[in-house]
Amino acid sequence: MDINKAYKNIGTETAFDILAKAEQLKSQGKDVINLGIGQPDFLSPDHVVEAAVKAMTDGHHGYTPANGILKLREAVAKNIYEFRGIEVDPSNILIMPGAKPIMYFAIILFGNPNSEIMYPNPGFPIYESAINLTGAKAVPIELNENNSFSFNAESVLEKINDKTKLIILNSPANPTGGVLDQKELDILAKGLEKYPNIAILSDEIYSRIIYDNIKFNSLLKYEHLHERLIILDGWSKTYAMTGWRLGWSLWPKKLIQIATRLAINTYSCVNAPTQFAGIAALSGPQDHFDSMLKEFDKRRMIIYKKLNSINNLSCILPKGAFYAFANIKKTGMTSKEAQDLILEKANVASVAGTSFGNFGEGYVRFSYAASSENIEEAMNRIDSLF
Ligand code: PLP
Repeated sequence: MDINKAYKNIGTETAFDILAKAEQLKSQGKDVINLGIGQPDFLSPDHVVEAAVKAMTDGHHGYTPANGILKLREAVAKNIYEFRGIEVDPSNILIMPGAKPIMYFAIILFGNPNSEIMYPNPGFPIYESAINLTGAKAVPIELNENNSFSFNAESVLEKINDKTKLIILNSPANPTGGVLDQKELDILAKGLEKYPNIAILSDEIYSRIIYDNIKFNSLLKYEHLHERLIILDGWSKTYAMTGWRLGWSLWPKKLIQIATRLAINTYSCVNAPTQFAGIAALSGPQDHFDSMLKEFDKRRMIIYKKLNSINNLSCILPKGAFYAFANIKKTGMTSKEAQDLILEKANVASVAGTSFGNFGEGYVRFSYAASSENIEEAMNRIDSLF
């Protein structure tokens, strides 16, 4: 068969391969602890589940508007105002089946063989994969442990040329747990005034999962960027709803129609019961989220201390999300070797830093969205390996 050559360049999210491998080992009777996949180990809030069931029994079985039910888009606009302090028009919001398709839409809108797209590296692997798929040049924004995995705005601005079409940022970040430094963001936002045609995709999926009272700073703060800023967020992480597939995106006026058309060309709309669940999540009680965040924070301190007590491993304190990005350079192993050793000898699933880009070499990502007992046990097992 003659498949389209472009698809040869498609990458993947290794966490899903590792999840499959961990499940396979479990089925062979191995006691695997999964610190690989990035999803809350909590059930979705009860009132969210009830809202979906009610929508089903109330007969919401048909298509909805492609951009999402108006009540849901209004709830998102209210939430944006509450947590980002900016008023937005619900007509600029597009509800999508998970947050992932948002990055895909944004990247295919700007990627072509003559364009360049900048993306964080190490970063969520789908950015680089989707950029490669379009034939655009993927230009890494290198993130370093020595500046707490923030970024250097001047070096981003220096890499801009007339082929640069889109800049992707992610904060709080996967896989590093880093939060982009406010001063660097100010420099970047100021510098971008000179380049009005460059679009920005701000992946803010971990906007609520941030610790130590650090203030979350959305890119929406920069009003002069609004006409070219795409915001990505959703329900997966905040409301423990990864499997529901529900995300929201905010698009500039000039792009919302084309993004909605992409939705019509692909999935038509998100299923209605899930959208009703989304309304309940945003408008209902938030105690589920509050206690989940407290629990993540507790686990963050456990994994941080444990990792730093293991011979040849170290880790800086994550500021957001639920990942610890451990430095394994002193072991002399590659990230992949360490990941495989940890899975095979300690029965602990983790993800090699290189799964998030070449600048992830020397690191292994541990998700601490697992119980404290499992984290402690996993760290004890790993301790005996190094
Ligand atoms: N963006 C980042 C940085 C993520 O880590 C993830 C999921 O792991 C996503 C987006 C995708 O979210 P969703 O599961 O809602 O598609």
